[in-house]
Amino acid sequence: MPQEYENFDNENLGKNERYCASCGNPIQKKDIFCPYCGTKQYSQQTVYPYPPKERVIYVLLALFLGCFGVHNFYAGHTNTGIKQLLITLLLGWLFGIGALITFIWAIVDIIQVTHDGNGVPFT
Ligand SMILES: [Zn+2]
Repeated sequence: MPQEYENFDNENLGKNERYCASCGNPIQKKDIFCPYCGTKQYSQQTVYPYPPKERVIYVLLALFLGCFGVHNFYAGHTNTGIKQLLITLLLGWLFGIGALITFIWAIVDIIQVTHDGNGVPFT
């Protein structure tokens, strides 16, 4: 009975399998990196080495301050944030075209980015 309860939502998985947190493919429990997409896996028992960032804050920063890469600095994607900041500052004087580019970039970030720079998923 306790063993069945433990696997109640994994009926299609073998005993030593679980789903990849990123792509959803079944992988071995002992796998640290998903063989399909390469994403680092954390078991439920694992304490994240860094506290997870909040997605709500990430989205708000991207919407209001995304032109300056602030959302990427928040999430630990520092290199991307620096690129966005530079594009906005360097091209910003040409009819605001730099800010337009980085604003669209920030929207793409909102849609695509689900993990912070340490590979910890947003909450
Ligand atoms: Zn995967």
